[in-house]
Amino acid sequence: MKLVSTRDIEKKGSSYTDVLLAGLAPDGGLYVPSEYPQFSVEELKSLQDAPYIQVALATKHKLIGEAIPKTDLEGLIAAAYKKGSDGFDVEGDQITPLRPMREGLYLENLSLGPTAAFKDMALQQLAEEMEYELNRRDTTLRILGATSGDTGSAAEAGIKGLSRLTLFMLSPETGMSDFQKAQMGSLSGDNIFNISVRGRFDDCQDMVKEVKGEPEFSDLGAVNSINWGRISSQVPYYVSGYLQAAKNIGDPVDFVVPSGNFGNVLSGYVARKMGVPIRKLIIATNENNVLHKLFTTGVYELTPATVTSSPSMDISKASNYERLVFSLLGNDGEKTAAYMQEFATSGSVDLKEYGLGADVFAKNDFFSGESSHAKRLQAIKETYDEAGTVIDPHTSDGVAVAKEYFDPSEKVPMICLETALPVKFESTIKEALGFVPDRPTRFEGLEASIPDDAFTVIDPDVESLKEFIRANS
Ligand SMILES: *Cc1c(COP(=O)(O)O)cnc(C)c1O
Repeated sequence: MKLVSTRDIEKKGSSYTDVLLAGLAPDGGLYVPSEYPQFSVEELKSLQDAPYIQVALATKHKLIGEAIPKTDLEGLIAAAYKKGSDGFDVEGDQITPLRPMREGLYLENLSLGPTAAFKDMALQQLAEEMEYELNRRDTTLRILGATSGDTGSAAEAGIKGLSRLTLFMLSPETGMSDFQKAQMGSLSGDNIFNISVRGRFDDCQDMVKEVKGEPEFSDLGAVNSINWGRISSQVPYYVSGYLQAAKNIGDPVDFVVPSGNFGNVLSGYVARKMGVPIRKLIIATNENNVLHKLFTTGVYELTPATVTSSPSMDISKASNYERLVFSLLGNDGEKTAAYMQEFATSGSVDLKEYGLGADVFAKNDFFSGESSHAKRLQAIKETYDEAGTVIDPHTSDGVAVAKEYFDPSEKVPMICLETALPVKFESTIKEALGFVPDRPTRFEGLEASIPDDAFTVIDPDVESLKEFIRANS
């Protein structure tokens, strides 16, 4: 099973484990599978009542073949999705349990992991796989990343204590919620370095890009969602959600996905390509509606992000969309490279000029909708009133859009992905409901317990960053 770059014209192909440690392809493209292994209806039926770990094993094994032998892979998956105080806060065998909002409309909870956001689903597994592969190669890896919130703590929780990985995580000094800052701060130490940049998230990202561009640091690994290891580790929860919602295996199910960088929903697309009977994939954006505009007009336009009350979806562009456009353009690396080049230089690109209309999305069963602060508050309130459950502001963007599309007379179940727990965004919940959500015991007193030196503060200056990495390598 080979992976090819979305901009690779020769389609040379790389192995899964090389891609895992590398991140971006050398030509600037993103890795995608050269073919999609298939689930048969019989296979799906055999997994219907299986524990999550077995669903994940079957899915991931199909996707990566023998790159990691199946027995080893099983051990990595069991470690990534372990239950308990530093793992997943679940009771039964389902790591991503479904609960109903109304007849036929469900929430799938992806945020019961150690840092209470769906990023744990990918990063717990990614860290285990990286450590495994580094062991096999008897080497180590430094990782440099930037976060505006949930990726940082999830990557740190996955990598903390592993012996072959060192993580340098940049975050903006202001902008994250107190809870998010405290989560990261509580994970500082050992092989985890938190670097707070006097600047914005964009400054952090620019610094990462610049440092990695230099020969001395070109071997640094990546944990953002451009890493195929992350995308492939998210496919199993689409399979699991499907198996939990479908009355008869083979019947269709729709998914609604609160989206930013397009990483989450891309995994749903992969699941569908693998033969899971997913009908619609519906993307929900917040006020930063780059994706909604793209899906309705065919024009992909870089738009400065504004700060909203669903901050993990505040994006100016959606990196993983490149993987979809490659597929829509018939796996044509040359066309994809030209399309992305036009976007990079002019900040805007129209699918029309590449032989496709805006209707290409609907034809491929992709739909979208846009939420807002008012809609978020309303969806939080309605969900609480109707189902007695408190949802976070990102999930709420999804629920708001789901209600535009959900038609009970079609009898097709619809699953809204729950991407964070409300405890991470207390002030918005208070605004919507008049009270703060219950805090899971493991997060009690979190903000009070952070040491003063948990973050090293630097200016948005590449030289200081390079010095820090050298000194701590
Ligand atoms: C990262 C994140 C998203 C957006 O996911 P993408 O994969 O970037 O589309 C949505 N909700 C929450 C809570 C997140 O942390």
